[in-house]
Amino acid sequence: MILSYQMHQKMHRCSFSDAYACQDEYHGNVVSESLNFRIRESVRLRSPMPQPPKGEAMDRVDILIIGQGPAGLSAAIYAGRAGIRTLVLGCDPKVAGDYIIDNYFGFPEPITGKELIARGVSQAERFGADMRCERVLGVHAEEEGYVVRTEAGEIATAALILATGVSRVRPGIANIADYEGKGVSYCVSCDGFFYRDKTVAVLGEGIFAANQALELLQYTPHVTIYTQ
Ligand SMILES: Cc1cc2nc3c(=O)[nH]c(=O)nc-3n(C[C@H](O)[C@H](O)[C@H](O)COP(=O)(O)OP(=O)(O)OC[C@H]3O[C@@H](n4cnc5c(N)ncnc54)[C@H](O)[C@@H]3O)c2cc1C
Repeated sequence: MILSYQMHQKMHRCSFSDAYACQDEYHGNVVSESLNFRIRESVRLRSPMPQPPKGEAMDRVDILIIGQGPAGLSAAIYAGRAGIRTLVLGCDPKVAGDYIIDNYFGFPEPITGKELIARGVSQAERFGADMRCERVLGVHAEEEGYVVRTEAGEIATAALILATGVSRVRPGIANIADYEGKGVSYCVSCDGFFYRDKTVAVLGEGIFAANQALELLQYTPHVTIYTQ
């Protein structure tokens, strides 16, 4: 079944002065402002911030990346290789499960999302990036950068990269999450290949559902649209 509910890509200026509001609106995920990844326009990568004086509790880094998905890890690899003190916050992204990834450049054999993310983490760590599974609760701009508040405390950073992904608008079907990646998909260009010659239902409405159904016809003639 392909669910044609559009990704929630509403542009949203999440200033993070009150990240709670963002999280509520987007079902617990802070949403990045553009496609998957953007560098905050006001990021000014200044000379590395000084080490905190002895005894100071607050951690300090040069770049803090919020998000441990493909976008955040890619940014961490570049920042780490540039010798910049880099911290990545965020836990396993949704794709880090047993989902088969079949379309990633450089992987001729299918790879699970879990393995792909694990490889990205170890690659970023190889270049010195630190990883922490911590949820960001708020961000405040300061004269010298930003202070990021997490569940565990506060971290000062000269630059901030938001790579928090997007949230899907799930239909109100009980237990639907249990079937994602096991016959329930949200993206024909990602997963249509797995439905070759299968009987597929597209659940959705409007032009988006129609487009997804048309795209599916490349893979199977057995397509039915369920719509309001
Ligand atoms: C089930 C599934 C299957 C998929 N299959 C494919 C596929 O086959 N091919 C394909 O090309 N794409 C696939 N995708 C899409 C692909 O996974 C996404 O496009 C990609 O993960 C987006 O990367 P990202 O780094 O922008 O965001 P995400 O991977 O969504 O990562 C977001 C990160 O931000 C963190 N975060 C969010 N809010 C906070 C906060 N407040 N504090 C701290 N951290 C936070 C999260 O913990 C997470 O680490 C699939 C997605 C899913 C869910």
